Amino acid sequence: NPLIVTIDGPAGVGKTTLARRTAQALGVAYLDTGAMFRTTALELGPGASDLADSELVARLQSLRFELSGCGEKSVLRVNGRIIGDEIRTEDVGTMASRIATLPLVREFQCTAQQAIGSGTSLVVEGRDMGTVVFPHATCKIFLDATPEVRAERRYHQLRDMGREADLAELAEQIRQRDDRDRNRPVAPLRPADDAVVIDTSSLDIDQVFEAILAAVRA
Ligand code: C5P
Repeated sequence: NPLIVTIDGPAGVGKTTLARRTAQALGVAYLDTGAMFRTTALELGPGASDLADSELVARLQSLRFELSGCGEKSVLRVNGRIIGDEIRTEDVGTMASRIATLPLVREFQCTAQQAIGSGTSLVVEGRDMGTVVFPHATCKIFLDATPEVRAERRYHQLRDMGREADLAELAEQIRQRDDRDRNRPVAPLRPADDAVVIDTSSLDIDQVFEAILAAVRA
């Protein structure tokens, strides 16, 4: 059976850094499902919520996601094109969280993510990996941290990418995105009953990484 490690949690908690590192350590592929939602939001554009169901489904089905490579060298493509840093803005994050409330979008994403994970070992990060998409995962992690700590982490991540960012504005955007992710009717953000919950507020990256590896090996 393939090994599936799910890493879920709210925005800015450090999922991406930790999921990549965990995938690298385990020698398996890394899948960022947030990147799939972000890319879908960009491809659908701002009018997505107003589309008729049949039109929305047709637009979604024109998107082919593919994962190749392993560990930190894992590469996600949409329709053959590598998904890059253009999706890494808080505005695109907000667009993603809006379309992520649409049941047809979630259904499409779930199917695409399960197809990528079928027969392939993965570390996969998102919001509903342990609860909905991979309920039988080998190991489920849920990372959490205070909203203040998460806004700071996201701020430094954006700065490291050479992006301008305003801490107060980021904190507000993250708060709204969390509200939307936690309160949506379909697949809301929450830990699976059998997830290992790690409060990372006062831990550094290395400490969280060790805690994740310990959970995977337990
Ligand atoms: O993880 P990331 O910040 O890139 O995700 C962007 C948005 O995509 C989230 O705020 C959430 O609304 C949505 N998402 C989701 N389910 C996932 C991954 C992301 O609803 N598995």
